[in-house]
Amino acid sequence: MSKNYHFSTKLIKETVGVDPQTGSANVPVYLSSTFHQKDFDHFGKYDYTRSGNPTREALEDAIASLEGGVRGFAFASGMAAISTAFLLLSAGDHAIVPKNVYGGTFRILTQVLGRFGIEHTFVDTTRPDAIEEAIRPNTKVIYVETPSNPTLRVTDIRAVVRLAKAHRCWTFVDNTFMTPVFQKPLEFGADLVLHSATKFISGHSDVVAGLAVAGSKAIADRLYFLQNALGAVLGVQDSWLLLRGLKTLDVRIRKSADSARRIAGFFAAQPDVRHVFYPGLPEHSGFALQAEQATSGGAVLSFELENEECARIFVNHVQLPVFAVSLGAVESILSYPPRMSHAELNEEEREKAGIGSGLLRLSVGLEDAEDLIQDFSNALGCVRTQRQVTVRGEE
Ligand SMILES: *Cc1c(COP(=O)(O)O)cnc(C)c1O
Repeated sequence: MSKNYHFSTKLIKETVGVDPQTGSANVPVYLSSTFHQKDFDHFGKYDYTRSGNPTREALEDAIASLEGGVRGFAFASGMAAISTAFLLLSAGDHAIVPKNVYGGTFRILTQVLGRFGIEHTFVDTTRPDAIEEAIRPNTKVIYVETPSNPTLRVTDIRAVVRLAKAHRCWTFVDNTFMTPVFQKPLEFGADLVLHSATKFISGHSDVVAGLAVAGSKAIADRLYFLQNALGAVLGVQDSWLLLRGLKTLDVRIRKSADSARRIAGFFAAQPDVRHVFYPGLPEHSGFALQAEQATSGGAVLSFELENEECARIFVNHVQLPVFAVSLGAVESILSYPPRMSHAELNEEEREKAGIGSGLLRLSVGLEDAEDLIQDFSNALGCVRTQRQVTVRGEE
């Protein structure tokens, strides 16, 4: 594939695989677990779908090209991809992981990998000095998720890669929030990029999937071995759905991110909103760094109302977003991290992570930004009037 195409062209070229046999403009769905071998001595490229399937491979090739890596891998979920990646480590190895890492990644590290002797330290990865302090002789990987969830804190990928290389360890980046449209960690020297493709890459809240892209043949070979050995591969039909989702990724995420910036600006101007977390706003602490390593603040933002009651009134009065976990879909998704994605933290841990009881996370979809802003403006109006009623009632 020519490297000089613009990203949006590449996206289409990589996902529209004209079938040489039939001319089909789409990659066929090869629903076959096994493949006939023509020759007794020489087996063909495919033998069994856990080891390789042409539909899944089309997806794996597409994501590898889009991230600028050497090989892609499709898994049954983001967590399947992440878990398989951590099994590149062995007993006695150590991982450095962000304090505010995705909850499922936190769980696999603390409740599963520890049992197999894989150690970890949680650090504030937005501080390179804190990472450096945590590095041990047995540190094998520095794991990064940027921007973080739900407070959108930004970690300097290049600084992490520099530290990792100096200490002979890998850098893994969970690129779910940015996608290769906005951020390409392999170009900064990261070794492995991971995705919950359930989010922006699928884009329609209809598939659970994970992707990984290796930056070198050495890591690709080891990850392929594990993908086949552990077997948490993505199903064939879901692989096809992801190829379909990918085709519109560029237009979807750009429109959503453009709306997110406007909506973040709207919230920032509201007196009832205590704080807005969005790395595309100049007031955000990670704004400059985000602009250096990514081309957008993305399509996810969080905002903090006074308390849980205000968040509840707000959620009860919005008309447009669905109120749900997950993100990265055509429909806007509003979630309440203290009870949803971060329910496993206790109140003190949530406070420390900056997740106040009035915090709401918004993944902006493809609705018109003006309609969304109007909807949020109405809901904030309801918060004001209903709060006045209860405050007066308490007096
Ligand atoms: C959702 C998510 C995951 C986990 O992916 P699943 O597809 O749900 O298994 C990992 N990392 C991030 C940042 C996510 O948002």
